[in-house]
Amino acid sequence: SPLVGVLALQGDVAEHQVALQAGGAATRRIRRPEDLKGVDGLVIPGGESTAIDKLSRAFGVAEPLRALIHQGLPVYGSCAGMILLADEIADPACNAAGEPQQTFGGLDVTVRRNAFGRQVDSFEEEIPMPALLSVPGEASAADPANVRAVFIRAPWIERVGSDVEILASVPLPGRAGNDDAAQVDRIVAVRSGNLLATSFHPEVTGERRIHRLFIQMIKGDA
Ligand code: GLN
Repeated sequence: SPLVGVLALQGDVAEHQVALQAGGAATRRIRRPEDLKGVDGLVIPGGESTAIDKLSRAFGVAEPLRALIHQGLPVYGSCAGMILLADEIADPACNAAGEPQQTFGGLDVTVRRNAFGRQVDSFEEEIPMPALLSVPGEASAADPANVRAVFIRAPWIERVGSDVEILASVPLPGRAGNDDAAQVDRIVAVRSGNLLATSFHPEVTGERRIHRLFIQMIKGDA
């Protein structure tokens, strides 16, 4: 079975380990560069992207991880993890010295942090994700073409590069309290090569197919 690391600097690490183990993977918590040795894939959990950025540099794990992503290591990022995989942040936070937060990058997208914030800070919604229909495992929604998506101060994706496949979107038009003038669907799940990212948290709903899909990607089956 594949060995999947979970970046364990901050965020909901244990829930991802449970979901990965349900999919048949072995897991390892990653904090230091040497922990990366021998992993077949990596999950970057939700949490706070600025904290994970800062800690990953302090622990010396940011640079080796960047190199591994570049070499094709399969990585799944959820929420803050999606932000950390993005090549560009529309509205990066700055530290006290005025330096913008950094990402590992690799995913040719632009994300906006806390993007749903002005409508609702956190919400739960069933959204279509037809790519999951072919993935075995427990579904979180009655209709297996849907996923129950939990958004917690979640980002959305505003721009995708030509190699990025859109897996799920949230319709903004018609949403109560929506004050976004653009009135377009917002991208919340993407895949590009070996990289998978979701704005939402599948690990807290009993949904197991997203981690399964990721394990299939690691095995070269998807
Ligand atoms: N808003 C957080 C950030 O910018 C992400 C929230 C989450 O991961 N649930 O990092």
